[in-house]
Amino acid sequence: MPRRRPPPRKQRALPPLIESRRIETGPDGYEYEVRPVAAARATKTYRCPGCDHEIRPGTAHLVVLPADRGDQGAEDRRHWHTPCWTHRATRSPTRKWS
Ligand SMILES: [Zn+2]
Repeated sequence: MPRRRPPPRKQRALPPLIESRRIETGPDGYEYEVRPVAAARATKTYRCPGCDHEIRPGTAHLVVLPADRGDQGAEDRRHWHTPCWTHRATRSPTRKWS
């Protein structure tokens, strides 16, 4: 079984069609596509992996899915609170001076 290593920085040959895709690096170093979900479209309760709390229906949030697995990545999507995703990189227990 091949180990899943952080993907090398490969140049992306994406057609301009999906130029609006937002690709960001997740807390684990992998690249993820980030899609905003409007409050009106949030009709279910989800569990945010950032804070382990629920995302209530009617809450605008983000859907985050692996960017390197094409359609299969959609099955691995996660729903995040917008601020939790924004601060995903700073949730480390290591305190820094500020
Ligand atoms: Zn959260």
